[in-house]
Amino acid sequence: MSIPFLDLAAQHAPLLGEINAAIQEVIAQSAFAGGPRVAAFEKDFAAYCRVNYCSGVGHGTDALWFALLALGIGPGDEVITVPSTFMATAEAISYTGARPVFVDIDETTYTLDPARLEAAITPKTKAILPVHLFGQMADMEGILAVANQHGLPVVEDACQAHGAEYQGRRAGSVGVLGCFSFYPGKNLGAFGEAGGVTTNDAELWAKVNTLRDHGQAKKYHHSMVGWNGRMDGIQGAVLQVKLKYLDSANEARRRLAEQYQRLLGAVTAVKAPVAAAAARHVYHLYSVRVPKRDAVLNALGKRGIGCGIHYPIPVHLQAAYRSLGLGRGAFPRAERCADEFLSLPMFPELRPDQVETVVQNLKECLAE
Ligand SMILES: *Cc1c(COP(=O)(O)O)cnc(C)c1O
Repeated sequence: MSIPFLDLAAQHAPLLGEINAAIQEVIAQSAFAGGPRVAAFEKDFAAYCRVNYCSGVGHGTDALWFALLALGIGPGDEVITVPSTFMATAEAISYTGARPVFVDIDETTYTLDPARLEAAITPKTKAILPVHLFGQMADMEGILAVANQHGLPVVEDACQAHGAEYQGRRAGSVGVLGCFSFYPGKNLGAFGEAGGVTTNDAELWAKVNTLRDHGQAKKYHHSMVGWNGRMDGIQGAVLQVKLKYLDSANEARRRLAEQYQRLLGAVTAVKAPVAAAAARHVYHLYSVRVPKRDAVLNALGKRGIGCGIHYPIPVHLQAAYRSLGLGRGAFPRAERCADEFLSLPMFPELRPDQVETVVQNLKECLAE
């Protein structure tokens, strides 16, 4: 019996009638780039995140890039983030012309360790960009304490954390700006590429809206050099439908994670994820740590268990960032985790008997 890593068809099957109707409406209106369905989704998603504003953009990478540009970040500046993330976090920093500066992670939550933040701040630092990895928000209290002391804005990379909470506050509402990806496999996924920026600041919202539309606030009057970063009308329509089911999907993920946790409790070779007391984890990914990870991954693959690695190479060791001169040993915790992370199947439609099968196979593979 094979178990997929992710099953989007199962997620969409019960929603297809509703989604098709929403797509037909976009086609009838010919509102393909931006338009009323994008505006309606922006309103709903802002309310969901408990912020005043949301700006729909092309994808999560746009969201991060526009958020940093809206803060005026550019060449000569530094932005602090973590090496344990998807490449896009650092790419967005680089595309503003600024330099990514990394801080190692906390080894229980896998998010930015506030205790190491102060040492990375220089006169060139212009923002802090923590990543809510795997569906768990970073230690925002600790991060904000340091940031506020230095008068630095905090931008959340919430691309893996739709609906996650920290001290009862939603992802995307704690920093000055929140950046979301609606890539199909994310907790809230479009039928293609899409992203969003959340904020309570009307001025920053207006800047992001202008940046995503070629720097024009008024048609053909370009106040700045922007980019083509609007959200597709069809994606806005699909997302507005799917948003209604996000909470129940996240609840399903949390129940499955609880089951994994219970079954893995007795398996000493496996480090299961730990949710901090302040966090409501939404398990975008269920990543455990195992010894001899590559062999275990290979063995599970042969048995038909779909697994992944998020991410095998920390950003500071990527060839693209060789010029930063950061070798192995620079961020030992991120490096150790990258060697041991193994993402097990996790999606809302995964069944409890499948979780049992995954854990049984994992135990057997570890014993081999
Ligand atoms: C997915 C992701 C992104 C990029 O989002 P795209 O929509 O693929 O551009 C950025 N950061 C993190 C942490 C992500 O997981």
